[in-house]
Amino acid sequence: MIRLDVSRIKNVPGETLRLDLNFPMDPVQSQHGQVSFNSPLRLTGFLTNEGGKLKLTGCLEGEARIACGRCLDLFDLPLKAEMDEVYCSECREGQGPGGEWVLFRGDVLDVTAEVAKAVLSALPMKLLCREDCRGLCQRCGTNLNREACRCSTDDVDPRMEVLRKLLKDGN
Ligand SMILES: [Zn+2]
Ligand SMILES: [Zn+2]
Repeated sequence: MIRLDVSRIKNVPGETLRLDLNFPMDPVQSQHGQVSFNSPLRLTGFLTNEGGKLKLTGCLEGEARIACGRCLDLFDLPLKAEMDEVYCSECREGQGPGGEWVLFRGDVLDVTAEVAKAVLSALPMKLLCREDCRGLCQRCGTNLNREACRCSTDDVDPRMEVLRKLLKDGN
């Protein structure tokens, strides 16, 4: 849970809270599998009372640990994402531009869900441990970054080898 105490600003339009937080983050599920965090994330920015609503503009930075899409090894990926949210304590659900207001109650803002959203938005389409990751052998499953397997040297028809290369490069 990442909680911000907003008691000082929530009733004072124009008031701003400067944010500079380091916090541990629980794993987040993505379409690429689980994203976890070995070190704290950092959120810097501002939380401003704009006409009674609290506008968060910030920058989230850190390092995510995630599985390579090609060889499945875990690797560390630097993350950087902008955060832009509006929190409202008096709005009703679904109101606002596109129903985009996040509701809150009391003096404490829990921004965990929005941090998770920012993490997901920062993930690239392709997650590779390195640009030239060689992946796993399709036949025996050997991680070709670490060792060569014997599949490729076994009597492979050269025409099939060309095809295999094409398929591999297309991944
Ligand atoms: Zn890889
Ligand atoms: Zn192999």
